[in-house]
Amino acid sequence: MISNINSQATSQSTSSERKIGFYSDNKAGPTLVAFGGMHGNEPSGVLALKKVFQELNEHQPNFEGKFFGIACNLGALSLNKRFINADLNRIWTSENLKEISDQSNANLSSPEQFEQFEIYHLIQDILAEASGPLFFIDLHTTSSESQPFISINDTLRNRELGLRYPLPIILGVEEHLGGTILNYINDLGHIAIGFEGGQHDAPSSIENHEAFIWTTLINIGCLSRFGIPNGHIYEERLAKTTTDGQKIFEVRHKYTIGPDEQFVMKPHYVNFQSIKKNELLASNEAGNIHAAEKGKIFMPLYQGQGDEGYFIIRKIRWFWLKVSVVLRKTSFHKILPYLPGINRHQGLHHALEVNKRIARWYVTEIFHLLGFRKTELKDKHILFIKRKYDFKGPDVKKS
Ligand SMILES: [Zn+2]
Repeated sequence: MISNINSQATSQSTSSERKIGFYSDNKAGPTLVAFGGMHGNEPSGVLALKKVFQELNEHQPNFEGKFFGIACNLGALSLNKRFINADLNRIWTSENLKEISDQSNANLSSPEQFEQFEIYHLIQDILAEASGPLFFIDLHTTSSESQPFISINDTLRNRELGLRYPLPIILGVEEHLGGTILNYINDLGHIAIGFEGGQHDAPSSIENHEAFIWTTLINIGCLSRFGIPNGHIYEERLAKTTTDGQKIFEVRHKYTIGPDEQFVMKPHYVNFQSIKKNELLASNEAGNIHAAEKGKIFMPLYQGQGDEGYFIIRKIRWFWLKVSVVLRKTSFHKILPYLPGINRHQGLHHALEVNKRIARWYVTEIFHLLGFRKTELKDKHILFIKRKYDFKGPDVKKS
């Protein structure tokens, strides 16, 4: 059975399908890696990458650094399904990576594990060769109708790149979605941002992805805005897609769908639509599901596969964003273990255990401000881990 899966996946993933494109002018500079089709029912990113590489090859603009495009779930893309056995964007955990890091490992148990194996080793090759800063973008679309937006793990370096686009930014999805490829890349210390270009099948989603890719190449310094035909229009095109440009939102709530739950979202919710507390949002076999708090509905699920029914998000005020920059850069978090109800975690570096009964007020909000992520809930304790590469990246080779 295992060998069957492997040989089947091998025949699907010819390296030309996996590597959508590579572009370089043999000049020093940053490396951009773009992932498309992490979910098989989201082909827009792959199609947009193909077009961008085609135009780069046609016009051969002055280009600094290197640009790689990688197609991710090839098996699921060929079936137009989100995934075959497992969600490829939920399996980038340290245990799984240990298993696939061994080049000779033939015991890959699912089609997605094989896809992950190939992508992982491609990333390692790129990391080994890179000589400047590395940037990663992950291109997605949503099942509901949506304006495009950026999703990032809340490091100051991710925020800084995110704010160079005229788009809304969502912080903190990582606390609710384990094992994403962005979590893995951020933990390596590189800047990585997710982009959702619109609804899965909307033709405008491909155009939005193209505009996002070009804008990224300009924002990180691979291309000059004036060095490519129509270089000035891409940022404008993105700006026109949204009325929430550069607003930053945080995830406040996630509705997780249980095994065998008959979850049905009420129709016609659009991403970012305002909702009231207790508003009727969905139903399951036990009855109606109401909003836990007021805010905006985010990623309501209108497709068969997926474990997240919806999220509720809320805008963060600029004042608090600025306060968090100052607090993080002055290492304010160092006083935390001296406060009542907060202890250093035995064994985990940069981790604090918080006794919910003693440290009660706005605990999560304060830890977020200081650059921690909530990782695990134990009966009376919450575990917060400080992000390692918040405002300073790892050392990279200078070219
Ligand atoms: Zn997706």
